Amino acid sequence: MTRTVYVNGEYLPETEATVSIFDRGFLMADGVYEVTSVLDGKLIDFEGHAVRLERSLNELDMPAACSKEELLEIHRQLVTRNEIVEGLVYLQITRGSDGDRDFVFPDPETTKPTIVLFTQNKPGLADNPAAKKGAKIISIEDIRWGRRDIKTVQLLYPSMGKMMAKKAGADDAWLIEDGHVTEGTSNNAYFVKNGKIVTRPLSNDILHGITRKAVLRMAEEAQMEIEERLFTIEEAKEADEAFTTSASAFVMPVVEIDGVALGDGTPGPIAKRLREIYLDESLKAAI
Ligand code: PMP
Repeated sequence: MTRTVYVNGEYLPETEATVSIFDRGFLMADGVYEVTSVLDGKLIDFEGHAVRLERSLNELDMPAACSKEELLEIHRQLVTRNEIVEGLVYLQITRGSDGDRDFVFPDPETTKPTIVLFTQNKPGLADNPAAKKGAKIISIEDIRWGRRDIKTVQLLYPSMGKMMAKKAGADDAWLIEDGHVTEGTSNNAYFVKNGKIVTRPLSNDILHGITRKAVLRMAEEAQMEIEERLFTIEEAKEADEAFTTSASAFVMPVVEIDGVALGDGTPGPIAKRLREIYLDESLKAAI
């Protein structure tokens, strides 16, 4: 089946969808994105992603490409047209193209943003075998820019981080800045010690994960203890367990950090329980 994608108001076969070579997303990574997961053919936390998208656009002085209602309709259309039961909807909005290359932002009155959405079919997303095994991570230096709270498409360093992890025989990397863990290459980072969940507080240093917000709320409702503070990779290595959260992998247990096994080297009970609660609650609230 040829995938149907959405580009600037049109639903097209992926082979017919085009964007200008002068698009600022292509030339300057001048764009933002969101990834919303689909379970049971429904969108998980669409509202959270729509709100964060609006914030990212505002922070970059980019006009909204369409309303929240239109955005929801496009997501639903793509899920239906591509028969997605489990998978992802990727959305990207860039500052568009004024037909040339210039560092100065084009006039938003005359240059419209580019909006692109496509689906990724991922059968077995919820029942992911990787979550049963748990992830091995390495730590690397965080050399990204200072506005990680904006979900921009500048993903070269996170991509390089994943490659460094792969080369080291691991699954992913956590990033370290000034001696403290910021987050994972594409997820928020947590460890658990003596039943307490520790994660870095929100700031411009990390992406304000939609899954992070939901998981912390659910952990609180389940009477789990949470502490938001800076932490080192050494603390995480000495933890009882660790995990990451993201919209595409939900709650992912971490079983090894820089070659050091956590606990007995298998997914910890709190990570497993949070994954179950998150999937359960999110499915109930999916639209
Ligand atoms: N941090 C970074 C750097 C990310 O790229 C992501 C995923 N996009 C996250 C955290 C997790 O955010 P979310 O739960 O909204 O997917």
